[in-house]
Amino acid sequence: MWSWWTGTVLLSGVPVTRPFSLLLLAGTAEARDLAGLLAGDPRLSVTASLAGVTSAPTPMGVATRSGGFGGVEGLADYLSRSAVDAVVDATHPFAARISANARAACAHTRVRYLRLERPPWQAGPGDDWREVAGLARAVEVLPPGAVAFLGIGRQEVGLFAGRRDVRFVMRMIDPPAADAALPPGEIVLARPNEDARGEAELLRRHAITHVVAKNSGGAAGRAKIDAARALGLPVVMVERPPCAGGPLVTSVEAALRSIEGWLAPG
Ligand code: NAP
Repeated sequence: MWSWWTGTVLLSGVPVTRPFSLLLLAGTAEARDLAGLLAGDPRLSVTASLAGVTSAPTPMGVATRSGGFGGVEGLADYLSRSAVDAVVDATHPFAARISANARAACAHTRVRYLRLERPPWQAGPGDDWREVAGLARAVEVLPPGAVAFLGIGRQEVGLFAGRRDVRFVMRMIDPPAADAALPPGEIVLARPNEDARGEAELLRRHAITHVVAKNSGGAAGRAKIDAARALGLPVVMVERPPCAGGPLVTSVEAALRSIEGWLAPG
């Protein structure tokens, strides 16, 4: 018999405690940080889950699985089969599908769910943002003749393929698929520079007139926004998809406190 609250299994009447099983939906710096802090905690059995889209993901120090679950049904099945006690959804703010699936699967299986989502960036003095509700709108607002820097990864650059009147500099970590439709311009295979000076140098070298970014928040992608401000460049800032509700924390520390709450007796 399994007791939800204490994590105790009664085998032939003898209580045997098993670690609290946590599924960490990953793909972000926050997920990596959280995994690092949870690794080795004997009270927990943590499995991190990656979509499998990055060829050489950074190791997280906990058991890691890769690839989709097969929608809500597949994830609900995984949660039941693996006796998962709680899901921490630390996926990217723009990864709306997996978050919606995770909420639904947790509700269906009565597994606890927590969303960890970093706060969005806010425009400050000197920023020139054109905020748009989705990448399709970003495609439309770029003026003819622009030289646009796409700092949006590789998966969605094809959306800009119809804009033959704009030149694009597309930065991505892994190359696009061989058959991907690409907009005119060039690909820069690199991780983002950590400092604004490095990003400004890149923007200057390519004579960029517009930066296109998703409002991901966090430190990792911020340097390109700071660089755009320093150079007086407009940023076409794609707003986040709406958060579908459920318990939400915005920092790794707050997620740790919630997990401690789950582990507390009683
Ligand atoms: P998405 O549209 O929300 O998800 C597409 C499908 O990929 C999901 O339905 C799910 O497949 C699978 N999937 C996504 N995240 C998964 C995970 N952590 N573990 C297992 N399966 C996962 O997501 P996306 O925008 O393509 O992003 C994919 C991954 O890249 C996410 O994990 C996200 O954290 C990371 N990422 C995304 C962005 C971005 O801008 N979107 C940026 C940086 C990192 P099934 O339905 O088959 O389960």
